[in-house]
Amino acid sequence: MRAFDSDKLVIATHNKGKLREIAELLAPFGIEVVSAGDLGFEEPEETEDTFAGNARIKAHFAAKASGLPALSDDSGIMIDALDGAPGVYTADWAETPNGRDFPMAMKKVWDLLEEKNAPEPRTARFCATLCLAWPDGHDEIFEGTIEGRIVWPMRGEHGFGFDPIFLPDGETETFGEMDPERKQAISHRTDAFRQLVSGPFKDLAK
Ligand code: IMP
Repeated sequence: MRAFDSDKLVIATHNKGKLREIAELLAPFGIEVVSAGDLGFEEPEETEDTFAGNARIKAHFAAKASGLPALSDDSGIMIDALDGAPGVYTADWAETPNGRDFPMAMKKVWDLLEEKNAPEPRTARFCATLCLAWPDGHDEIFEGTIEGRIVWPMRGEHGFGFDPIFLPDGETETFGEMDPERKQAISHRTDAFRQLVSGPFKDLAK
């Protein structure tokens, strides 16, 4: 596993919710972070059908364009009664001609579960794959999950994306209702990040 030995890192995302959470996770390490959006990079097309494949596309694109190491996140929600959908297509389910509409996408999920008469609990997991890529083409992959269930109606104003309908196992609040610090303590992204901390970041002073 290659050690991270740069003092600057590009966060290869244009998603503000992900950017906020990743920047917070990186804050204790004293690394200067800059986002792909700030650098004016376009978003590469996510043409793979796995989280790792799409995470690699985003991280390598930003690493090559910037000449710096880059960290990407490809994530989504997998719902058992929908055979793992929306999965890698989670963001696509929210696409409309006028931008992303997550309340519409969450309603679509619930309507499909109702149509199928899916038994309760409607189990699901959030998955996050982080890719740390270097400009020379090397990369490292870290995968995290959190188990839970889909609930209706939507609950809470915190977080982003599908947070208002995801109730993590053992919790009474959805990701949308939860204090952001609590989400950061248990999330799929944090689960993946822990592996980055015990791998490439191991020798960084915290
Ligand atoms: P992508 O990784 O850019 O393909 O997009 C992943 C999509 O999954 C996001 O746009 C969100 O809708 C959803 N997602 C990923 N992580 C979270 C999360 O922590 N909370 C809520 N939704 C998430």
